[in-house]
Amino acid sequence: MYRYVQRDPDSSVYAAVSAVLDENEWIRCRRESPRFHLMLGDLNRLPWHTLGQTGVKPLVNYYRGARLICRKAQLTRTLNNYRSRMGRPPVPWYPESYVVSPRQNAKSTKRPPIIASTDDRDRLREAVTGRRDSVWIVKSSCGAKGLGMLITDSVEKAIDFVDSQGQLHVVQKYIENPLLLDGDRKFDIRVWVLLDHEFRVFMYKEGVLRTTSEPYRPDDLQATTSHLTNHYLQENFSQNYGLYEEGNEMFFDEFAAFLHRKHGKRLHDVLSQIRSIVLETFKSVREDLILAETASYRSFQLFGFDFMLDTSFKVWLMEVNGSPASAERLLPAMAQSIVQTAIDPLFPPAEEASQSTLFEPID
Ligand code: ADP
Repeated sequence: MYRYVQRDPDSSVYAAVSAVLDENEWIRCRRESPRFHLMLGDLNRLPWHTLGQTGVKPLVNYYRGARLICRKAQLTRTLNNYRSRMGRPPVPWYPESYVVSPRQNAKSTKRPPIIASTDDRDRLREAVTGRRDSVWIVKSSCGAKGLGMLITDSVEKAIDFVDSQGQLHVVQKYIENPLLLDGDRKFDIRVWVLLDHEFRVFMYKEGVLRTTSEPYRPDDLQATTSHLTNHYLQENFSQNYGLYEEGNEMFFDEFAAFLHRKHGKRLHDVLSQIRSIVLETFKSVREDLILAETASYRSFQLFGFDFMLDTSFKVWLMEVNGSPASAERLLPAMAQSIVQTAIDPLFPPAEEASQSTLFEPID
């Protein structure tokens, strides 16, 4: 029998993983139990220092340091540093991005930290001098749900916006030519990626598009629900939520049919760009994340990678989520596959699972 602790009651994915374990030869222990083989931890409260001090070398469901790619400012820094270390230009699949730290501002009621070394505002101003294009999106580094974002064609407005806030932001080139679905609607593509304890990379076979339910309006940058695909915004602020797709979600089979019918393109070609981006993203943090053989614990982690596709069928990375939810419909099979791919190899079950995992190795 193997023993596990479940310390994140709010994660629907790990609740489903627990249910799979409970049906097999796993015993769920008290959350404070010192002896366990597996910890399904809470991302923000993992006891890294005490893991593995009791004899068993446990497996934990997060990589320490993964925030290097899971926070927008850190992702920007990580990708820029990784390429400049090699003397190469920035990765071509992440929109031009600048980390801007808020300065003390008379209008601000908050007291933002001034961290000069993390402030790219001068580089940003320099980069846009003499340039005509330029719509920018401003995102809080640890923001989510599409809240607190600004889309603007003025870099000075973008910087003022950051100064009125209390945290680091990323000012990012707005992708102005997104590929649009029927009804001229924007979408992003979510894929789930599993990094196992040997730093092998697996991608889930099924992914989902998160769609807007309003036509894209490049001439109106305030029309949030036409620009941002986040479910939270669509559900709360679009009158058409659910009109085109149930829950504004389109799955890969329908997307593949759309690409073929409307553009004569193959989903396969989009996914092969996605695979290369995922691999290079992990390459950029491999040395920071990978654990030595002598470490007192092992890690695996599920990530949600979000992408956009433009009209030339180029894939762009938007962000990496370190504790993603699963689309409801995919959850049971994904939980089963997480167990099979990330947990079973270290703690083999007495009987082989009847179905094969839906995570495919991509490295
Ligand atoms: P969040 O953490 O709020 O989900 P994202 O970076 O994923 O933040 O952005 C949310 C949505 O905003 C994306 O799914 C996309 O629709 C839109 N968006 C974000 N960045 C850009 C960009 N650079 N160009 C065009 N649209 C963007």
